[in-house]
Amino acid sequence: MRSLPLVDLHRHLEGSIRTSTVLDIAERTGHPLATRSKPRTALVADGSEGGLLPYLDKVDVAIGVLTELDDWSRAAAEAVDDAFDDGLDHLELRYCPGIIAHDTGLPPEAVIDAVSDAVAERSARRGLPVGLIGIVVRHLGAESAEQQITTLLSRRDRFCAVDLAGDEANFPAQLFAPAFQKARDAGLHVTIHAGEAAGPESVWDAVRHLKAERIGHGVRAAEDPELMEHLARHNITLEVSLTSNTQTGAAPSYAEHQIHTLLAAGVPVTLNTDNPRVSDVKLSQEHRAAVNEVGLAEDQLVQVAEQSVSAAFH
Ligand SMILES: [Zn+2]
Repeated sequence: MRSLPLVDLHRHLEGSIRTSTVLDIAERTGHPLATRSKPRTALVADGSEGGLLPYLDKVDVAIGVLTELDDWSRAAAEAVDDAFDDGLDHLELRYCPGIIAHDTGLPPEAVIDAVSDAVAERSARRGLPVGLIGIVVRHLGAESAEQQITTLLSRRDRFCAVDLAGDEANFPAQLFAPAFQKARDAGLHVTIHAGEAAGPESVWDAVRHLKAERIGHGVRAAEDPELMEHLARHNITLEVSLTSNTQTGAAPSYAEHQIHTLLAAGVPVTLNTDNPRVSDVKLSQEHRAAVNEVGLAEDQLVQVAEQSVSAAFH
């Protein structure tokens, strides 16, 4: 097979922090994670998560360990190194300064500066282009979302896009319409986590209320032919994550992943890692799994890889 572009459009910094780095820092600070008998089980999914929220716990547990700005610089630089080592051609890395600030007490603006500077330095050194996406988290509510957007916009030039993540089932997209309007007015692109822990109506909401150009996961769009037609017609790209989707229960299995239905309906689909540490995956492995485990034809993989190039936010 010819070599395909390796482009990851959906990768969380918080879920990319290496297990070894989390434990190294936990040991330095005396964090309880360092003395747990099996700390890896708190940081890496084993397939028994039973839903999105237990999976997200394994992302979030690392955040409170990194209490210094230098820790975030290190995590960001290592995330770029890991992407480079896997052979990526382009990376979009996303993170939530609001949650990092909430869990560590660090000022969110300082976190943004530390992460952006580290990514810029390492991206230039590796020759790997990296775009940064600022995440607003749903479960702190609409008022917090406005504040989170204001913080992101205070560092507007550090980001190519904004995203909404967290508890999709209990905090619908409409709550966040005013906040995302501000981000769009500032010229930021919009991608929204939807159709992962809630059904097709959540994807409709992300498109209608937040004007999402891409959808994080979106796999449950496969339940709604009218929605798939809308996504295809308006070139709204789904950021699918094969392994993460099976671990969170968004997809029943590799073989029965909704990507088959989505591709058959002409929906633009990309392959992404979501959380390399938590899901224990690399993008190169996800490409192989797409053919070997999921059963995509090689020309479908080519189509998906090329879609990742054209759907990147520049
Ligand atoms: Zn995600």
